[in-house]
Amino acid sequence: MQKEKGTISINTENIFPIIKKFLYSDNEIFLRELVSNAVDASQKMKRISSLGHFSGEIGEPLVKVAVNSKAKTITISDNGIGMTADEIKKYINQVAFSGATEFMEKFKEAKDANEIIGRFGLGFYSSFMVADKVEIQTLSYVDGAEAARWICDGSTSFEISKGKRTERGTDVILYVNEESIEFLQEHKLQSILDKYAKFLPVPVQFGTKKQSVPDGEDKDGKPKYKSVDVDNIINNTNPIWTKTPADLKDEDYLSFYKELYPFTEEPLFWIHLNVDYPFNLTGVLYFPKLKNDFEIQKNKIKLFSRQVFITDEVKDIVPEFLLLLHGVIDSPDIPLNVSRSFLQADSNVKKINSYISKKVADKLSELFKKDRKVYESKWNDIGLFVKYGAISDEKFYEKAKDFLLLTNTAEEHFTAEEYKLKVKDFQTDKNGQLIWLYTANTEFHDSYVKAAQKKNYDVLLMNSPIDTHFIQQLEMKLEKTALKRVDADVLEKLIEKDESLSHQLSEDEISKVKAVFEKAINNSNMKVEVESLTSESLPVSITMEEWMRRMKDMSKMGGGGPMNFYGTMPDSYKVAVNANHKLIAKILTVDEAQQTIIAKQAFDLALLAQGMLKGADLTAFVERSVEVIG
Ligand code: ADP
Repeated sequence: MQKEKGTISINTENIFPIIKKFLYSDNEIFLRELVSNAVDASQKMKRISSLGHFSGEIGEPLVKVAVNSKAKTITISDNGIGMTADEIKKYINQVAFSGATEFMEKFKEAKDANEIIGRFGLGFYSSFMVADKVEIQTLSYVDGAEAARWICDGSTSFEISKGKRTERGTDVILYVNEESIEFLQEHKLQSILDKYAKFLPVPVQFGTKKQSVPDGEDKDGKPKYKSVDVDNIINNTNPIWTKTPADLKDEDYLSFYKELYPFTEEPLFWIHLNVDYPFNLTGVLYFPKLKNDFEIQKNKIKLFSRQVFITDEVKDIVPEFLLLLHGVIDSPDIPLNVSRSFLQADSNVKKINSYISKKVADKLSELFKKDRKVYESKWNDIGLFVKYGAISDEKFYEKAKDFLLLTNTAEEHFTAEEYKLKVKDFQTDKNGQLIWLYTANTEFHDSYVKAAQKKNYDVLLMNSPIDTHFIQQLEMKLEKTALKRVDADVLEKLIEKDESLSHQLSEDEISKVKAVFEKAINNSNMKVEVESLTSESLPVSITMEEWMRRMKDMSKMGGGGPMNFYGTMPDSYKVAVNANHKLIAKILTVDEAQQTIIAKQAFDLALLAQGMLKGADLTAFVERSVEVIG
């Protein structure tokens, strides 16, 4: 072979310094790119052989990664198809560089290394991020091929000459530059391989490991063992998502989960994804047991492309409400290396998104139908996903309404349809509207819940972080139904019925009572109203209208826009004075000083029942109470 020198045909002098500088933060990607090329070359060999284009023995495919810290090199070797000198010219000098000119124009707009590498086909050239000089030693599988060597020092000139490989395949040798010597440390390379290469379809060997092997017998005839160095294969070439679900047992899914997330609790259940039309996608998604801190549980889904790890940022591929799921997705159809805005507009990504959503709905529906008891026992963990999904995805809601459970304070579960039947007799108001009652905290609202139950009302527990939104959604979807928190009004008015209680007070007495309370409370945000409640009800109750409280809750959750307006509004309450309580009759008979004491005391008790009595007011209440006893 003639030694040949040449210049890579781009108009720009030297793009390597730019690649190096620009891609610096992501420079570990070089290993992913080179190892993937080696895997591709090995798989192509297999294909060529199975198509009958190669008659020789292809042997077991193996990719090797080796470090020589003295020579400061990293070598990636494979026994794949190799390249002839012409192929090097074509694939390395031209094809791999076809995007280079464009790259020079666009690199300023690009956001990260992935984007550039993929869009401009710079896979192989990413090696210049960490190397001053790159050498290829290769021998093509083609009969009579000559070994070839390519070397390039990071300028645009290269050299091709006779190579020294005697066996089919390719070595890519990186002469690591000064700034990148960290990559010569074994543990560093090991961790990069663990990240990107753990599930590659061809065995990848890195370093050696000790293994104990039989070594004859000792003098008593007992077997002896010795420790030998064997190749350390770092990957599992057959991860479960590549297998057929019918061939897998629960243990397989559970042990794979452990492999991905050591030290975590067992998942609740899983879904095996497998579709090849209209896009290609495989994967296993697990429902984890939720912890309180959602943030640390996000971004646990790993995205692969043909078993090469790409990212755990799957925001655009997995529906938002399923980001808390764990597991893997593998698809060659997801455009991995393009910008996020492109990804969001990509039609495959949209289809994948709705496919995953549908699969999850189907699985939940199946679990619900198969064993409701088990499903209910897991509801605490899955409820959040399901509610979130129902709020954010119309199609998901349509399916979810049949397995979406409501839980009451007695911890009984109902679908919306079942619940409707349960409460319709007692909780239909005079206009024929169903009123569903709820509390976010049974401890806090104990007195309200008990009172409601005495009237044969049922109270739902709405204590998950998204229930404020979920309640809105329910009202939108359910016909003639409204939800009210148990403290949204006095019990007699929560669900308005035709029968109304009367009271004995005259107009004059009503204004007197009102005035006494207004003076004692002295707070314009507390609106006093004298109402006819049952004599067993408290003398004073404090309530906040449902809509007002919801707006407040929304603004607390950072609703933004008009919600902020409600957030800045002062809290405004109704102080319902029970015209039928004997204390109110008493107020009308005592002197002014006594009136104020009674009114203050009754009001503070109402605050206390609502958990609203704090600080100086609480102190004053305690002191006043002591006085009253004395
Ligand atoms: P891509 O892999 O995206 O095509 P690369 O720049 O990584 O781009 O590689 C360019 C081409 O060089 C590959 O398509 C392949 O034809 C060839 N090539 C790279 N590495 C090897 C290898 N280890 N064995 C055989 N061919 C290779």
